[in-house]
Amino acid sequence: MKIVTVVGARPQFIKAAALSRVLRREHEEVLVHTGQHHDPQMSDVFFQELSIPKPNYNLGIAGGSHAQMTARMLMAVEEVLLAEKPDALLVYGDTNSTLAAALAAVKLHIPILHVEAGNRLGSLVNPEEVNRVLTDHISTALFACVPSSVAALARENLTQNVHLVGDPMYDAFLYYVKRQKNRILFFLPGLAGGQVPVPTDFAYLTCHREENTRTEEALSEILLAMESLPYPTLYPVHPRNKESALHLVYALGLRQVQLVEPLGYLDSIWLCSRARHVVTDSGGVQREAFFARVPCVTVFDYPAWPETLVGNCNQLAKPDREDIRTKWLVQPCWDITGTPFGDGHACEKICAVLQGLEL
Ligand code: UDP
Repeated sequence: MKIVTVVGARPQFIKAAALSRVLRREHEEVLVHTGQHHDPQMSDVFFQELSIPKPNYNLGIAGGSHAQMTARMLMAVEEVLLAEKPDALLVYGDTNSTLAAALAAVKLHIPILHVEAGNRLGSLVNPEEVNRVLTDHISTALFACVPSSVAALARENLTQNVHLVGDPMYDAFLYYVKRQKNRILFFLPGLAGGQVPVPTDFAYLTCHREENTRTEEALSEILLAMESLPYPTLYPVHPRNKESALHLVYALGLRQVQLVEPLGYLDSIWLCSRARHVVTDSGGVQREAFFARVPCVTVFDYPAWPETLVGNCNQLAKPDREDIRTKWLVQPCWDITGTPFGDGHACEKICAVLQGLEL
């Protein structure tokens, strides 16, 4: 098959790193980068570190409102699809790049393969939920990471061509964590310049969701919770909230929270695996903490990945310092039967399904 894959954001590069490696053994892949995440630390570093093939197209589309970005991508991806005439379009997850590419393809009658289908929060207030739901409903094949995603699809009457394959993020995690076992990380690039030492004991924080960064109130509560810990917090800051993070650390006089530049994936999973605990609002990082068996508090209203909540391995908290601190007192129980995110071979399973798919 000739498959056009469209990616645009950090977590999609990681999933593409895992799947492209397997997909290209049997199929011709044309890789399209929309440009949604474009600066070197949010894009180039992933392509270099993870040996992702160079994109055949770079559309250079970033910024603007959700509608502006999606509309520009829709037009640009349509041109690529018309030129390439693929047998299928492959998209990941829930970004504006995912939805734009899927809309362009469905109107051209090109079958859509959606990886990470069926993940649901249950509220269209979350901008990514709109992208997830719409993409699932126009896709030909739905690849779910976990049983709860299959159940969510069934609630929406999506039962045809649904495949529970496991999580390509888990494939990527197992693959790369093994390759950097003996690595030692001494310093990280500070957000305000200089080098930040990596201590033995630390917490790992990532926080950039619109819900937690739209105003400074939520982020200041999260930072004050981290400040109360007896050891430092390492916080790689997403470009979206760089200014407010720098401002808050200064204005609140924080000493324990160390702001660092966005990290490459290898550094991120290294820190996530070695942290005393993780606080995040990222769908990917809460799963990685679970994979590494590191206790996690997810500052989010919705259980994005219910499988991680078993045994309090991951707990949801409000952006409220007392709520976060209360959750830290709960001991997680890692006595988990089975592997809810698959066996590390989700990508092979996706390719096996493709072999038998009648498009
Ligand atoms: N990540 C990274 N560098 C960072 C922070 C996170 O490589 O500075 C990785 C993280 O390990 C995970 C992925 O990026 O694999 C998560 O991406 P993000 O939080 O942007 O998106 P989400 O998973 O919420 O869709």
